[in-house]
Amino acid sequence: MKLYCALCGRPMEQAAVLIGTLPVGPVCARKAGLMLLSRRKTGLVFPVVRRRLAKPQCPQTHDLFEEQEAAI
Ligand SMILES: [Zn+2]
Repeated sequence: MKLYCALCGRPMEQAAVLIGTLPVGPVCARKAGLMLLSRRKTGLVFPVVRRRLAKPQCPQTHDLFEEQEAAI
């Protein structure tokens, strides 16, 4: 599933923050000051737990825990 930044509409690999349920990419989030907002516990801007993309795959073993989506 491809993600599109809610602010600029560009496709991105991962969101940096969520405004409500809308994903925002790292560049826009930084420019809009959302990284600071997301660290606060109040408001509608949430930080996204970033996953490591270049994870070495080992087909013989499974992850100990299923990947969890960020709780909204
Ligand atoms: Zn953007």
